[in-house]
Amino acid sequence: MTLRILDIAHQTMADGPGFRTSIYCAGCAHHCPGCHNPQSWDFGGGSEMTVDQLLDIIKADSMSNVSFSGGDPFYQAEGFTELARRIKQETGKTIWCWTGFTLEQIQADPRLAAMLPWLDVLVDGPFIKSQRDTTLLFRGSPNQRIIYLHGAPPVDDIPGTVPLVPLR
Ligand code: SF4
Repeated sequence: MTLRILDIAHQTMADGPGFRTSIYCAGCAHHCPGCHNPQSWDFGGGSEMTVDQLLDIIKADSMSNVSFSGGDPFYQAEGFTELARRIKQETGKTIWCWTGFTLEQIQADPRLAAMLPWLDVLVDGPFIKSQRDTTLLFRGSPNQRIIYLHGAPPVDDIPGTVPLVPLR
């Protein structure tokens, strides 16, 4: 199984709490006006990586949890579902995932919904330029929601490190 990947950021603090390995995928058809990353829209951008290659990179960093962004990972739902499943089954890491789809749109499509059980947090919905708010945490506009998919905020602490302050 391969995924089209634009970039990987190591130990970033921009995509969720604490240090994270952020996987930025290629391709997004939402085309939100004012998108922060329009160079990510091209489905042919970046390069192909296997799930095993990505897992090796993720596992090599014992300090970081994982984030999926893009682009929109749900346009590569099968590949990211496989990657998320293996992260959750083979590591103790949490996964945050950004998407331009709403949770309700994802739940209505079994092909997309298959990823949800393996994610900890979904940040959903398109960016709405007229509602842009730079004070929001991890989101660009207030329609976007930080959704704890298993009912409560995940514990994003990494064992042996300083505990993170919980999000409000
Ligand atoms: S969903 Fe995200 S990456 Fe896609 S166009 Fe909207 S803001 Fe940009």
